[in-house]
Amino acid sequence: MHQKDTLGELYEQVVQRNPAEPEFHQAVLEVLESLSPVIAKHPEYKEAKLLERICEPERQIIFRVPWVDDSGTVQIHRGFRVEFNSALGPYKGGLRFHPSVNLGVVKFLGFEQIFKNSLSGMPIGGGKGGSDFDPKGRSDNEIMRFCQSFMTELYRHIGEYTDVPAGDIGVGARELGFMFGQYKRLTNRYESGVLTGKGLGWGGARVRKEATGYGTVYFVREMLSAQGTNLEGKEVVVSGSGNVAIYAMEKVQQLGGTVVACSDSGGYLYDPAGIDVGLVRQIKEIERGRISDYAARRQNGSDFVAGASIWELPCQVALPCATQNELTGSDAKTLIGNGVMAVAEGANMPCTPEAVKLFRETGTLFGPAKAANAGGVATSALEMQQNASRDSWSFDYSEQRLKDIMVEIHRSCFETAEEYGRPGDYVFGANTTGFCRVADAMLAFGVI
Ligand code: NDP
Repeated sequence: MHQKDTLGELYEQVVQRNPAEPEFHQAVLEVLESLSPVIAKHPEYKEAKLLERICEPERQIIFRVPWVDDSGTVQIHRGFRVEFNSALGPYKGGLRFHPSVNLGVVKFLGFEQIFKNSLSGMPIGGGKGGSDFDPKGRSDNEIMRFCQSFMTELYRHIGEYTDVPAGDIGVGARELGFMFGQYKRLTNRYESGVLTGKGLGWGGARVRKEATGYGTVYFVREMLSAQGTNLEGKEVVVSGSGNVAIYAMEKVQQLGGTVVACSDSGGYLYDPAGIDVGLVRQIKEIERGRISDYAARRQNGSDFVAGASIWELPCQVALPCATQNELTGSDAKTLIGNGVMAVAEGANMPCTPEAVKLFRETGTLFGPAKAANAGGVATSALEMQQNASRDSWSFDYSEQRLKDIMVEIHRSCFETAEEYGRPGDYVFGANTTGFCRVADAMLAFGVI
Protein backbone atom coordinates (compact mmCIF):
# COMPACT_ATOMS: atom_id res chain seq x y z
CA MET A 1 0.00 0.00 0.00
CA HIS A 2 1.35 3.49 -0.88
CA GLN A 3 1.81 5.49 2.29
CA LYS A 4 0.53 8.69 0.68
CA ASP A 5 -2.94 7.38 -0.24
CA THR A 6 -5.86 7.59 2.18
CA LEU A 7 -5.77 3.95 3.15
CA GLY A 8 -2.03 4.14 3.76
CA GLU A 9 -2.54 7.16 6.01
CA LEU A 10 -5.29 5.41 7.89
CA TYR A 11 -3.04 2.40 8.44
CA GLU A 12 -0.31 4.69 9.82
CA GLN A 13 -2.88 6.21 12.19
CA VAL A 14 -3.98 2.78 13.38
CA VAL A 15 -0.37 1.81 14.11
CA GLN A 16 0.21 5.04 16.00
CA ARG A 17 -2.98 4.85 18.05
CA ASN A 18 -2.51 1.17 18.90
CA PRO A 19 1.21 0.79 19.67
CA ALA A 20 2.80 -2.61 20.31
CA GLU A 21 -0.11 -4.56 18.79
CA PRO A 22 1.54 -6.18 15.72
CA GLU A 23 -1.18 -8.81 15.16
CA PHE A 24 -3.86 -6.11 15.11
CA HIS A 25 -1.83 -4.01 12.65
CA GLN A 26 -1.39 -7.07 10.43
CA ALA A 27 -5.13 -7.82 10.40
CA VAL A 28 -6.04 -4.19 9.61
CA LEU A 29 -3.48 -3.93 6.81
CA GLU A 30 -4.71 -7.15 5.23
CA VAL A 31 -8.27 -5.76 5.02
CA LEU A 32 -7.31 -2.20 3.97
CA GLU A 33 -5.16 -3.54 1.14
CA SER A 34 -8.28 -4.99 -0.49
CA LEU A 35 -10.51 -1.97 -0.17
CA SER A 36 -9.21 0.68 -2.64
CA PRO A 37 -11.56 -0.37 -5.48
CA VAL A 38 -14.57 -0.39 -3.12
CA ILE A 39 -13.79 3.04 -1.71
CA ALA A 40 -13.34 4.36 -5.25
CA LYS A 41 -16.77 3.00 -6.18
CA HIS A 42 -18.50 4.23 -2.98
CA PRO A 43 -17.40 7.78 -2.08
CA GLU A 44 -20.16 7.82 0.56
CA TYR A 45 -18.12 5.35 2.66
CA LYS A 46 -15.19 7.74 2.65
CA GLU A 47 -17.31 10.79 3.53
CA ALA A 48 -18.83 8.98 6.51
CA LYS A 49 -15.33 7.93 7.69
CA LEU A 50 -16.53 4.37 7.84
CA LEU A 51 -13.05 2.86 7.66
CA GLU A 52 -11.78 5.03 10.50
CA ARG A 53 -14.79 4.05 12.59
CA ILE A 54 -14.51 0.34 11.77
CA CYS A 55 -10.88 0.26 12.95
CA GLU A 56 -11.88 1.62 16.37
CA PRO A 57 -13.56 -0.91 18.72
CA GLU A 58 -16.92 0.21 20.11
CA ARG A 59 -15.86 -0.90 23.58
CA GLN A 60 -12.84 -2.63 25.19
CA ILE A 61 -12.98 -4.22 28.61
CA ILE A 62 -9.89 -5.34 30.56
CA PHE A 63 -10.25 -6.86 34.00
CA ARG A 64 -8.44 -8.66 36.80
CA VAL A 65 -9.14 -12.37 37.25
CA PRO A 66 -7.98 -13.50 40.71
CA TRP A 67 -8.31 -17.15 41.74
CA VAL A 68 -6.77 -19.71 44.10
CA ASP A 69 -4.94 -22.77 42.74
CA ASP A 70 -4.96 -26.29 44.23
CA SER A 71 -1.96 -25.54 46.45
CA GLY A 72 -3.76 -22.55 47.99
CA THR A 73 -1.67 -19.97 46.11
CA VAL A 74 -3.40 -16.84 44.80
CA GLN A 75 -3.07 -16.43 41.03
CA ILE A 76 -3.81 -13.27 39.05
CA HIS A 77 -4.64 -13.25 35.36
CA ARG A 78 -5.93 -10.64 32.96
CA GLY A 79 -9.30 -10.91 31.23
CA PHE A 80 -10.33 -9.16 27.98
CA ARG A 81 -13.45 -8.59 25.96
CA VAL A 82 -13.28 -6.37 22.90
CA GLU A 83 -16.74 -5.47 21.60
CA PHE A 84 -15.69 -4.37 18.16
CA ASN A 85 -18.71 -3.76 15.99
CA SER A 86 -22.45 -4.29 16.48
CA ALA A 87 -23.78 -2.95 13.16
CA LEU A 88 -25.19 -6.32 12.10
CA GLY A 89 -26.17 -7.80 15.46
CA PRO A 90 -24.93 -8.50 18.99
CA TYR A 91 -21.14 -8.78 19.34
CA LYS A 92 -20.18 -12.37 18.64
CA GLY A 93 -16.86 -14.17 18.89
CA GLY A 94 -14.95 -16.63 21.01
CA LEU A 95 -12.95 -16.54 24.22
CA ARG A 96 -9.33 -17.71 24.05
CA PHE A 97 -7.39 -18.94 27.10
CA HIS A 98 -3.69 -19.08 26.20
CA PRO A 99 -0.55 -17.46 27.68
CA SER A 100 0.00 -15.52 24.43
CA VAL A 101 -3.29 -13.60 24.80
CA ASN A 102 -2.95 -9.81 25.10
CA LEU A 103 -4.99 -6.82 23.97
CA GLY A 104 -3.43 -6.76 20.47
CA VAL A 105 -4.22 -10.44 19.87
CA VAL A 106 -7.81 -10.00 21.04
CA LYS A 107 -8.20 -6.93 18.82
CA PHE A 108 -6.85 -8.74 15.74
CA LEU A 109 -9.29 -11.57 16.35
CA GLY A 110 -12.20 -9.18 17.02
CA PHE A 111 -11.45 -7.15 13.91
CA GLU A 112 -11.36 -10.27 11.70
CA GLN A 113 -14.55 -11.45 13.33
CA ILE A 114 -16.52 -8.39 12.10
CA PHE A 115 -16.01 -9.32 8.45
CA LYS A 116 -16.26 -13.06 8.96
CA ASN A 117 -19.59 -12.72 10.75
CA SER A 118 -20.85 -10.40 8.06
CA LEU A 119 -19.77 -12.86 5.38
CA SER A 120 -21.62 -15.68 7.14
CA GLY A 121 -24.87 -13.89 6.29
CA MET A 122 -26.07 -14.23 9.90
CA PRO A 123 -27.25 -11.26 12.02
CA ILE A 124 -24.19 -11.02 14.27
CA GLY A 125 -21.65 -8.31 15.03
CA GLY A 126 -17.97 -8.87 15.87
CA GLY A 127 -16.15 -9.28 19.19
CA LYS A 128 -13.55 -11.44 20.87
CA GLY A 129 -12.16 -12.04 24.34
CA GLY A 130 -10.08 -14.26 26.54
CA SER A 131 -7.32 -14.38 29.08
CA ASP A 132 -3.60 -15.05 29.42
CA PHE A 133 -4.52 -18.02 31.63
CA ASP A 134 -3.01 -21.36 30.48
CA PRO A 135 -5.44 -24.25 31.09
CA LYS A 136 -2.77 -26.84 30.15
CA GLY A 137 -1.84 -28.99 33.13
CA ARG A 138 -4.52 -27.47 35.40
CA SER A 139 -6.94 -29.69 37.34
CA ASP A 140 -10.70 -29.58 36.64
CA ASN A 141 -11.19 -27.75 39.95
CA GLU A 142 -8.63 -25.11 39.03
CA ILE A 143 -10.28 -24.63 35.63
CA MET A 144 -13.64 -24.26 37.38
CA ARG A 145 -12.39 -21.66 39.85
CA PHE A 146 -10.71 -19.68 37.08
CA CYS A 147 -13.83 -19.76 34.85
CA GLN A 148 -16.06 -18.69 37.75
CA SER A 149 -13.82 -15.75 38.57
CA PHE A 150 -13.61 -14.76 34.88
CA MET A 151 -17.41 -14.80 34.54
CA THR A 152 -17.91 -12.90 37.80
CA GLU A 153 -16.70 -9.83 35.93
CA LEU A 154 -17.69 -10.69 32.36
CA TYR A 155 -21.37 -11.40 33.13
CA ARG A 156 -22.25 -7.71 33.44
CA HIS A 157 -21.11 -7.00 29.88
CA ILE A 158 -22.76 -9.87 27.97
CA GLY A 159 -26.29 -11.02 27.16
CA GLU A 160 -28.18 -12.65 24.30
CA TYR A 161 -28.98 -9.26 22.74
CA THR A 162 -25.68 -7.61 23.70
CA ASP A 163 -22.65 -9.84 23.37
CA VAL A 164 -22.53 -13.61 22.92
CA PRO A 165 -19.13 -15.27 23.54
CA ALA A 166 -18.15 -18.81 22.46
CA GLY A 167 -15.08 -21.06 22.69
CA ASP A 168 -11.70 -20.71 20.96
CA ILE A 169 -8.20 -21.98 21.77
CA GLY A 170 -8.22 -23.45 25.29
CA VAL A 171 -11.98 -22.98 25.73
CA GLY A 172 -14.25 -25.93 24.97
CA ALA A 173 -17.46 -27.40 26.39
CA ARG A 174 -15.90 -27.93 29.85
CA GLU A 175 -14.88 -24.27 30.26
CA LEU A 176 -18.14 -23.02 28.73
CA GLY A 177 -20.05 -25.22 31.19
CA PHE A 178 -18.34 -23.62 34.18
CA MET A 179 -18.87 -20.14 32.73
CA PHE A 180 -22.53 -20.71 31.87
CA GLY A 181 -23.17 -22.13 35.37
CA GLN A 182 -21.69 -19.02 36.97
CA TYR A 183 -23.61 -16.69 34.63
CA LYS A 184 -26.87 -18.46 35.50
CA ARG A 185 -26.12 -18.23 39.20
CA LEU A 186 -25.21 -14.53 39.12
CA THR A 187 -28.15 -13.43 36.98
CA ASN A 188 -30.78 -15.92 38.14
CA ARG A 189 -31.71 -16.37 34.47
CA TYR A 190 -31.47 -19.48 32.31
CA GLU A 191 -30.44 -17.39 29.33
CA SER A 192 -29.15 -20.11 26.98
CA GLY A 193 -28.48 -17.68 24.14
CA VAL A 194 -25.76 -15.83 26.09
CA LEU A 195 -23.02 -18.31 25.17
CA THR A 196 -22.59 -20.71 22.26
CA GLY A 197 -20.68 -23.97 21.95
CA LYS A 198 -22.62 -25.28 24.96
CA GLY A 199 -22.99 -28.99 25.79
CA LEU A 200 -25.84 -30.77 24.01
CA GLY A 201 -27.72 -31.45 27.26
CA TRP A 202 -27.94 -27.78 28.26
CA GLY A 203 -28.76 -25.71 25.24
CA GLY A 204 -25.98 -26.68 22.84
CA ALA A 205 -26.55 -27.28 19.15
CA ARG A 206 -25.71 -30.33 17.08
CA VAL A 207 -22.82 -29.80 14.62
CA ARG A 208 -21.43 -26.77 16.51
CA LYS A 209 -18.45 -28.80 17.71
CA GLU A 210 -17.75 -30.03 14.18
CA ALA A 211 -18.72 -26.83 12.35
CA THR A 212 -15.44 -24.93 11.97
CA GLY A 213 -13.47 -27.93 10.71
CA TYR A 214 -16.29 -29.30 8.56
CA GLY A 215 -17.01 -25.84 7.16
CA THR A 216 -13.36 -25.29 6.20
CA VAL A 217 -13.40 -28.52 4.23
CA TYR A 218 -16.71 -27.64 2.55
CA PHE A 219 -15.09 -24.37 1.50
CA VAL A 220 -12.11 -26.28 0.04
CA ARG A 221 -14.53 -28.55 -1.79
CA GLU A 222 -16.16 -25.50 -3.38
CA MET A 223 -12.79 -23.99 -4.39
CA LEU A 224 -11.72 -27.28 -5.97
CA SER A 225 -15.08 -27.77 -7.63
CA ALA A 226 -14.82 -24.32 -9.26
CA GLN A 227 -11.64 -25.71 -10.90
CA GLY A 228 -13.38 -28.94 -11.94
CA THR A 229 -11.79 -31.19 -9.32
CA ASN A 230 -12.44 -32.58 -5.82
CA LEU A 231 -10.82 -34.04 -2.71
CA GLU A 232 -10.94 -37.65 -3.77
CA GLY A 233 -7.52 -39.31 -3.61
CA LYS A 234 -5.76 -36.10 -2.54
CA GLU A 235 -3.15 -36.04 0.23
CA VAL A 236 -3.94 -33.46 2.87
CA VAL A 237 -1.89 -32.00 5.72
CA VAL A 238 -3.71 -30.41 8.68
CA SER A 239 -1.86 -28.49 11.37
CA GLY A 240 -3.07 -28.53 14.99
CA SER A 241 -4.92 -31.33 16.73
CA GLY A 242 -7.57 -29.34 18.56
CA ASN A 243 -11.24 -28.75 17.84
CA VAL A 244 -10.85 -27.29 14.36
CA ALA A 245 -8.16 -29.73 13.19
CA ILE A 246 -9.93 -32.87 14.40
CA TYR A 247 -13.17 -32.16 12.54
CA ALA A 248 -11.39 -30.88 9.44
CA MET A 249 -9.56 -34.23 9.31
CA GLU A 250 -12.80 -36.14 9.81
CA LYS A 251 -14.56 -34.35 6.93
CA VAL A 252 -11.57 -34.65 4.54
CA GLN A 253 -11.63 -38.41 5.05
CA GLN A 254 -15.43 -38.57 4.60
CA LEU A 255 -14.98 -36.79 1.27
CA GLY A 256 -12.32 -39.23 0.03
CA GLY A 257 -9.07 -37.40 0.87
CA THR A 258 -6.23 -38.84 2.99
CA VAL A 259 -4.91 -36.79 5.90
CA VAL A 260 -1.29 -37.84 6.29
CA ALA A 261 -0.28 -35.52 9.14
CA CYS A 262 -1.45 -33.27 11.97
CA SER A 263 0.49 -31.45 14.70
CA ASP A 264 0.63 -29.62 18.01
CA SER A 265 3.05 -27.09 19.46
CA GLY A 266 5.56 -29.91 20.11
CA GLY A 267 5.87 -31.23 16.54
CA TYR A 268 3.98 -33.20 13.91
CA LEU A 269 2.50 -36.64 13.59
CA TYR A 270 2.99 -38.41 10.23
CA ASP A 271 0.87 -41.41 9.32
CA PRO A 272 1.21 -42.33 5.63
CA ALA A 273 -1.73 -44.76 5.93
CA GLY A 274 -3.98 -41.83 6.88
CA ILE A 275 -4.46 -40.41 10.38
CA ASP A 276 -6.85 -42.48 12.49
CA VAL A 277 -9.08 -39.59 13.57
CA GLY A 278 -10.94 -41.77 16.08
CA LEU A 279 -7.66 -42.41 17.89
CA VAL A 280 -6.73 -38.71 17.87
CA ARG A 281 -10.17 -37.87 19.34
CA GLN A 282 -9.73 -40.56 21.99
CA ILE A 283 -6.31 -39.18 23.00
CA LYS A 284 -7.20 -35.47 22.81
CA GLU A 285 -10.89 -35.18 23.71
CA ILE A 286 -11.31 -38.04 26.16
CA GLU A 287 -7.90 -38.61 27.73
CA ARG A 288 -6.76 -34.97 27.32
CA GLY A 289 -3.37 -36.38 26.25
CA ARG A 290 -0.85 -35.45 23.54
CA ILE A 291 -0.61 -36.69 19.95
CA SER A 292 2.98 -37.79 20.65
CA ASP A 293 1.28 -40.85 22.26
CA TYR A 294 -0.37 -41.81 18.96
CA ALA A 295 2.45 -43.70 17.20
CA ALA A 296 3.00 -46.13 20.08
CA ARG A 297 -0.72 -46.87 20.20
CA ARG A 298 -1.24 -47.26 16.43
CA GLN A 299 1.88 -49.39 15.75
CA ASN A 300 1.78 -49.03 11.96
CA GLY A 301 4.96 -47.13 11.18
CA SER A 302 3.52 -43.73 11.97
CA ASP A 303 5.92 -41.30 13.56
CA PHE A 304 5.92 -38.19 15.78
CA VAL A 305 8.59 -35.72 14.63
CA ALA A 306 9.39 -33.35 17.51
CA GLY A 307 10.19 -29.69 16.87
CA ALA A 308 9.76 -29.83 13.06
CA SER A 309 7.47 -27.86 10.76
CA ILE A 310 4.55 -29.86 9.37
CA TRP A 311 4.72 -27.81 6.14
CA GLU A 312 7.85 -29.67 5.02
CA LEU A 313 5.56 -32.58 4.06
CA PRO A 314 4.40 -32.85 0.44
CA CYS A 315 0.63 -32.57 -0.01
CA GLN A 316 -1.96 -31.32 -2.50
CA VAL A 317 -4.13 -29.58 0.09
CA ALA A 318 -2.86 -27.78 3.21
CA LEU A 319 -5.16 -26.77 6.06
CA PRO A 320 -3.50 -24.67 8.78
CA CYS A 321 -5.82 -25.17 11.79
CA ALA A 322 -3.61 -24.32 14.81
CA THR A 323 -2.85 -20.64 15.44
CA GLN A 324 -1.84 -17.28 13.95
CA ASN A 325 1.30 -16.89 11.83
CA GLU A 326 2.14 -20.60 11.93
CA LEU A 327 2.74 -20.87 8.16
CA THR A 328 5.53 -18.57 7.00
CA GLY A 329 6.80 -17.39 3.62
CA SER A 330 9.44 -20.11 3.57
CA ASP A 331 6.83 -22.75 4.47
CA ALA A 332 4.70 -21.45 1.58
CA LYS A 333 7.67 -21.77 -0.78
CA THR A 334 8.19 -25.38 0.29
CA LEU A 335 4.49 -26.20 -0.12
CA ILE A 336 4.36 -24.60 -3.57
CA GLY A 337 7.56 -26.42 -4.58
CA ASN A 338 5.92 -29.66 -3.46
CA GLY A 339 2.91 -29.00 -5.71
CA VAL A 340 0.23 -27.82 -3.27
CA MET A 341 -3.02 -26.93 -5.12
CA ALA A 342 -5.16 -25.45 -2.38
CA VAL A 343 -4.66 -23.90 1.05
CA ALA A 344 -7.52 -22.94 3.36
CA GLU A 345 -7.21 -21.28 6.77
CA GLY A 346 -9.08 -23.25 9.45
CA ALA A 347 -7.31 -21.17 12.11
CA ASN A 348 -7.43 -17.37 12.30
CA MET A 349 -4.65 -15.67 10.28
CA PRO A 350 -2.37 -18.76 10.33
CA CYS A 351 -0.54 -17.68 7.16
CA THR A 352 1.87 -14.75 7.39
CA PRO A 353 1.46 -11.91 4.86
CA GLU A 354 4.51 -13.24 2.93
CA ALA A 355 2.91 -16.68 2.67
CA VAL A 356 -0.42 -15.25 1.48
CA LYS A 357 1.37 -13.13 -1.10
CA LEU A 358 3.19 -16.16 -2.49
CA PHE A 359 0.00 -18.23 -2.72
CA ARG A 360 -1.81 -15.42 -4.53
CA GLU A 361 1.10 -14.74 -6.91
CA THR A 362 1.48 -18.38 -7.88
CA GLY A 363 -2.24 -18.93 -8.43
CA THR A 364 -2.50 -21.43 -5.56
CA LEU A 365 -6.15 -21.60 -4.48
CA PHE A 366 -6.21 -19.74 -1.16
CA GLY A 367 -9.22 -19.59 1.19
CA PRO A 368 -8.71 -16.89 3.86
CA ALA A 369 -9.93 -17.53 7.41
CA LYS A 370 -12.78 -15.03 7.23
CA ALA A 371 -14.41 -17.16 4.58
CA ALA A 372 -13.01 -20.64 5.14
CA ASN A 373 -13.56 -20.93 8.90
CA ALA A 374 -16.81 -18.94 9.12
CA GLY A 375 -18.82 -22.16 9.49
CA GLY A 376 -18.08 -22.19 13.23
CA VAL A 377 -19.57 -18.83 14.02
CA ALA A 378 -22.40 -19.37 11.53
CA THR A 379 -23.38 -22.52 13.42
CA SER A 380 -23.13 -20.55 16.66
CA ALA A 381 -25.75 -18.22 15.19
CA LEU A 382 -27.85 -21.31 14.44
CA GLU A 383 -27.41 -22.30 18.10
CA MET A 384 -28.72 -18.85 19.13
CA GLN A 385 -31.67 -19.37 16.78
CA GLN A 386 -32.48 -22.74 18.38
CA ASN A 387 -32.13 -21.26 21.88
CA ALA A 388 -34.46 -18.37 21.03
CA SER A 389 -37.14 -20.74 19.75
CA ARG A 390 -36.47 -23.37 22.46
CA ASP A 391 -35.88 -25.90 19.72
CA SER A 392 -33.20 -28.44 18.89
CA TRP A 393 -32.47 -29.56 15.35
CA SER A 394 -31.24 -32.94 14.08
CA PHE A 395 -27.61 -33.51 13.09
CA ASP A 396 -28.47 -33.96 9.42
CA TYR A 397 -30.58 -30.82 9.21
CA SER A 398 -27.93 -28.76 11.03
CA GLU A 399 -25.17 -30.06 8.78
CA GLN A 400 -27.24 -29.26 5.70
CA ARG A 401 -27.62 -25.67 6.97
CA LEU A 402 -23.86 -25.46 7.48
CA LYS A 403 -23.21 -26.82 3.99
CA ASP A 404 -25.60 -24.31 2.43
CA ILE A 405 -23.95 -21.45 4.33
CA MET A 406 -20.44 -22.47 3.18
CA VAL A 407 -21.57 -22.80 -0.44
CA GLU A 408 -23.11 -19.33 -0.22
CA ILE A 409 -19.98 -17.80 1.36
CA HIS A 410 -17.88 -19.30 -1.42
CA ARG A 411 -20.30 -18.06 -4.09
CA SER A 412 -20.34 -14.49 -2.74
CA CYS A 413 -16.52 -14.28 -2.46
CA PHE A 414 -16.07 -15.82 -5.90
CA GLU A 415 -18.60 -13.55 -7.61
CA THR A 416 -17.40 -10.37 -5.91
CA ALA A 417 -13.84 -11.11 -7.05
CA GLU A 418 -15.10 -11.63 -10.62
CA GLU A 419 -17.21 -8.45 -10.50
CA TYR A 420 -14.13 -6.36 -9.64
CA GLY A 421 -11.96 -8.10 -12.27
CA ARG A 422 -10.00 -10.17 -9.73
CA PRO A 423 -11.09 -13.73 -10.63
CA GLY A 424 -10.08 -16.41 -8.14
CA ASP A 425 -8.91 -13.87 -5.53
CA TYR A 426 -10.79 -15.08 -2.45
CA VAL A 427 -8.94 -12.66 -0.15
CA PHE A 428 -10.26 -9.72 -2.11
CA GLY A 429 -13.73 -11.29 -2.44
CA ALA A 430 -14.02 -12.03 1.28
CA ASN A 431 -12.76 -8.63 2.48
CA THR A 432 -14.92 -6.69 0.06
CA THR A 433 -18.15 -8.62 0.62
CA GLY A 434 -17.71 -8.67 4.39
CA PHE A 435 -16.89 -4.97 4.53
CA CYS A 436 -19.73 -3.70 2.32
CA ARG A 437 -22.49 -5.32 4.38
CA VAL A 438 -21.17 -3.79 7.61
CA ALA A 439 -20.54 -0.44 5.94
CA ASP A 440 -24.09 -0.24 4.54
CA ALA A 441 -25.61 -0.92 7.97
CA MET A 442 -23.34 1.69 9.59
CA LEU A 443 -24.32 4.24 6.94
CA ALA A 444 -28.00 3.59 7.68
CA PHE A 445 -27.47 4.22 11.41
CA GLY A 446 -25.82 7.64 10.98
CA VAL A 447 -22.80 8.73 12.96
CA ILE A 448 -22.84 6.59 16.10
P1 NDP B 1 -7.79 -25.81 20.37
O1 NDP B 1 -7.31 -25.23 21.64
O2 NDP B 1 -8.84 -26.86 20.40
O3 NDP B 1 -6.55 -26.38 19.53
C1 NDP B 1 -5.46 -25.61 19.16
C2 NDP B 1 -4.44 -26.55 18.53
O4 NDP B 1 -3.41 -25.79 17.92
C3 NDP B 1 -3.78 -27.47 19.53
O5 NDP B 1 -3.53 -28.71 18.93
C4 NDP B 1 -2.47 -26.73 19.82
O6 NDP B 1 -1.41 -27.55 20.28
C5 NDP B 1 -2.16 -26.24 18.44
N1 NDP B 1 -1.19 -25.15 18.48
C6 NDP B 1 -1.23 -24.01 19.19
N2 NDP B 1 -0.16 -23.26 18.96
C7 NDP B 1 0.58 -23.96 18.05
C8 NDP B 1 1.81 -23.72 17.39
N3 NDP B 1 2.50 -22.61 17.63
N4 NDP B 1 2.26 -24.65 16.51
C9 NDP B 1 1.56 -25.79 16.27
N5 NDP B 1 0.40 -26.07 16.88
C10 NDP B 1 -0.07 -25.17 17.75
O7 NDP B 1 -8.28 -24.56 19.48
P2 NDP B 1 -9.24 -24.54 18.23
O8 NDP B 1 -9.05 -25.76 17.42
O9 NDP B 1 -10.60 -24.18 18.70
O10 NDP B 1 -8.70 -23.26 17.44
C11 NDP B 1 -7.66 -23.35 16.47
C12 NDP B 1 -7.67 -22.12 15.60
O11 NDP B 1 -8.94 -22.00 14.93
C13 NDP B 1 -7.49 -20.77 16.31
O12 NDP B 1 -6.81 -19.89 15.44
C14 NDP B 1 -8.92 -20.29 16.50
O13 NDP B 1 -9.00 -18.88 16.66
C15 NDP B 1 -9.52 -20.73 15.17
N6 NDP B 1 -10.97 -20.83 15.16
C16 NDP B 1 -11.63 -21.65 16.03
C17 NDP B 1 -13.00 -21.76 15.97
C18 NDP B 1 -13.74 -22.75 16.80
O14 NDP B 1 -14.95 -22.93 16.56
N7 NDP B 1 -13.11 -23.42 17.75
C19 NDP B 1 -13.79 -20.92 15.05
C20 NDP B 1 -13.00 -20.16 14.11
C21 NDP B 1 -11.64 -20.10 14.21
P3 NDP B 1 -0.96 -27.51 21.84
O15 NDP B 1 -1.97 -28.37 22.54
O16 NDP B 1 0.42 -28.09 21.81
O17 NDP B 1 -0.98 -26.08 22.28
